[in-house]
Amino acid sequence: MKTIGLLGGMSWESSALYYKILNEEVKERLGGLHSARCVMLSVDFAEIERLQMAAEWEQAGALLAEEARRIEAAGAEMLLLCTNTMHKLAPQIEAAIAIPFLHIADATGAAIRKAGLKTIGLLGTRFTMEEAFYADRLRQRWGLEVLIPEPADREIIHKIIYEELVRGIVRDESRRQYLRIIDDLRRRGAEGIIEGCTEIGMLISPEHTDVPLFDTTRIHALAAVEKSLPR
Ligand code: GLU
Repeated sequence: MKTIGLLGGMSWESSALYYKILNEEVKERLGGLHSARCVMLSVDFAEIERLQMAAEWEQAGALLAEEARRIEAAGAEMLLLCTNTMHKLAPQIEAAIAIPFLHIADATGAAIRKAGLKTIGLLGTRFTMEEAFYADRLRQRWGLEVLIPEPADREIIHKIIYEELVRGIVRDESRRQYLRIIDDLRRRGAEGIIEGCTEIGMLISPEHTDVPLFDTTRIHALAAVEKSLPR
């Protein structure tokens, strides 16, 4: 079994889910007392959020690249960056390490293609929904048509992530807002929804909607297990 490296803490709420999914999946596949071999370095999210809001991306990239090097030095044989948003800095992080970097949008694109869908709604932070690093990768590498919510709804999605979900707060009213926005994307043609922020699965799961959901936390963690186990 290969050692999975996790660059977590963005937020720790979702890193805890990664850890749980990795271990549950290895137990499911190998049985007995098997669990995932992994190394996690979890950053202080207050520092990351401050750099995001100040648009200090260069500095955030340097910080995460340094942490990625530490994870490699600790013995990891692949790296998961446990956040969609910070994949904006994937090239900088990837360049700092020699081990494979499992890009969250690629794992997600592959899962959507496997499900046979073509037009997909994307929910995430403002950065993930609006910037090219995520949606363009899905379009160019995976041939998907990507729809995002209207501007006012993007604001709602973003605000709920930073003010509630990364703090571990899950509110029914916020779920209602997300479901309304998901319905709107569906009316516009989305055949499925990417939960493109690693905390959204805490709020919306398949019991809340019949739209196919692509939970990036789960998809990303399962892709790592797949790569970690001998075939
Ligand atoms: N975990 C979130 C994501 O997947 C947002 C937190 C962050 O800004 O990294 O995008």
